[in-house]
Amino acid sequence: MNPAIFLDRDGTINIEKSYLCDPDKLTLFDDALRSLRRLQAHGFILFIVTNQSGIGRGYYTVADMHAVNDKLCLLAADEGIQFKKIYFAPEAPEETSYGRKPSPQFLLDAEKDYNIDLKNSYMIGDKLSDLKCGWNAGVRKSILVKTGYGSKLTEEPGVDLSQALVVDTLTQATDHILG
Ligand SMILES: [Mg+2]
Repeated sequence: MNPAIFLDRDGTINIEKSYLCDPDKLTLFDDALRSLRRLQAHGFILFIVTNQSGIGRGYYTVADMHAVNDKLCLLAADEGIQFKKIYFAPEAPEETSYGRKPSPQFLLDAEKDYNIDLKNSYMIGDKLSDLKCGWNAGVRKSILVKTGYGSKLTEEPGVDLSQALVVDTLTQATDHILG
């Protein structure tokens, strides 16, 4: 069995731009590829798990989302990084969804389809729904990065982050995991 890193996309790997749907507007965080390369080199399989409600809301199409993902995969491939699979939930929040975070469904699918050891895997994201997704799947740790919406979340009253690891950047998340 293989350990994995499940990564949120927007606000975690790339700069959060509301409803990003244009590959030309995709901007990766400076430390994203270096961090992913380190994790991959240590045997972690990389997955992206992304809520894309902009599709369900009618703001952009599945093809638009794939164009952004393709650009991200190209940039990653240039650094020798491979995402095993990009799981996406296209539904709007009020719609019934197969895997929209905080559902752990995509992580459970990865466990089964790619022989992933969830207990030794991590979820990294910038929203509470990312953390809950990891908790619901039983990963070793859900990690909140204070990029994207993460910083704002840490200031919200009544949000219990005691089970999460809170870090500033993907580099710090990586340092912790490889610690
Ligand atoms: Mg995000």
